Amino acid sequence: MTDLKTAKKWLDEADAIVVTAGNGMAQEEGLDILSEERFDDRFGKIADKYDVHTIGDALGQKFDSWSEKWTFWSHLINDYTLEYEPSETMLKLKELVKDKQYFIATSTFGHFFEAANFNENRIFNAFGDWTKMQCSSGINHGQKDAREVVRQFLEADKNGEVTEELVPKCDICNSEMELHMPLNANFFPDTDANTRFRWFLTGNEDKKVVVLELGVDETSPQLLEPMLKLVDQFPNWRYVSADLEISEIPDELEQRIFTLKKNPHELMKELVK
Ligand SMILES: [Zn+2]
Repeated sequence: MTDLKTAKKWLDEADAIVVTAGNGMAQEEGLDILSEERFDDRFGKIADKYDVHTIGDALGQKFDSWSEKWTFWSHLINDYTLEYEPSETMLKLKELVKDKQYFIATSTFGHFFEAANFNENRIFNAFGDWTKMQCSSGINHGQKDAREVVRQFLEADKNGEVTEELVPKCDICNSEMELHMPLNANFFPDTDANTRFRWFLTGNEDKKVVVLELGVDETSPQLLEPMLKLVDQFPNWRYVSADLEISEIPDELEQRIFTLKKNPHELMKELVK
């Protein structure tokens, strides 16, 4: 295990930074899908009707109608994304990567990195992005921006005028549209962004790379083990983590890993003064 000073030096000297951001980073940005705090107050009708008390459970719940679902989704997206302001942690991250080549792979789905003005071509949303929508038929008919639909539902809900006619339909097959998230087996990740991410990794194999891990946990394992494997594979790569537990680290890798064992907020506070 190495110390914070060494981790800072790695970041200073890095040719490229790969940011992996999970659940812990979503919490920094205000979205905690597993928390019961505030849910019943904000979404009392849904909580009573379906006996769900977290955003995660409500997203996985079958609703009686598409319009009810879209009304709920619209309030969520409005609360957490349309009214989003970047956290101090996010602003420090921007400062840290501003003169670097970077790529962000995230499971946060709340459109936070785009809203904080990171380069959209340098972001891969592994779990989708709920400001986009996809066809619910199970066939990949592409993605569309959902924000106008969200605004229409909010307006209609305010006036008590929500109807099934407002539910967006696929241009190709006329099925209802749903959020671009892995809510069911119909989820198709953004293959273009995934390809850009893979090219970025491949193009930097021999360079000095730091993987900066911000709150990735067991809810998004695809952003954890594969990245540690790459660090293991390429001798110039280093791994700086907010919360990785030491027991998860293979012995031979320890010298190339730093973990604060806290959270993204504390890590960014240490790295960017
Ligand atoms: Zn379709």
